[in-house]
Amino acid sequence: MAILNILQDGEETLRKTSRPVEKLSPRLIQLLDDMQETLKQSGGVGLAAPQVGILRRVVLVDNGEEVLELINPQIVETKGVQEEVEGCLSVPGRWGITHRPAYVKVRAMNRHGKTYEADGTGIVARCFCHELDHLDGVLFTDKVLRMLTEEEIEKL
Ligand code: ZN
Repeated sequence: MAILNILQDGEETLRKTSRPVEKLSPRLIQLLDDMQETLKQSGGVGLAAPQVGILRRVVLVDNGEEVLELINPQIVETKGVQEEVEGCLSVPGRWGITHRPAYVKVRAMNRHGKTYEADGTGIVARCFCHELDHLDGVLFTDKVLRMLTEEEIEKL
């Protein structure tokens, strides 16, 4: 496994649309393993393949119990709304308030090719939305209601 370089805001790759995964391959498994290692080291809750320069529809989301591997993920259900602080490994040191659904259910494939569903509230729901946005070249700063001030960030 390897720690991958996380692209920072301003890199064109982060603004591109990722392509679906068409078949499982050793390269995909390698990517998932490397993303797992990279996420663990970063201290973040989610990571999308385009953040490590790979334009494929693959994301990881830590739901507090395990790190879910979501291949070709789709949001299939949302409920309510939450207004919370959000950040991104590709936008270090900056935080903002966003509106996201309070509950999100996703459907995706795992590394064995099996389709499954996962859901969550709070930070997990936000993370599903945030990571899936990355697959369409969208950053949270595009959706932010307002960015936090230096003073507010210090209190986080
Ligand atoms: Zn992000």
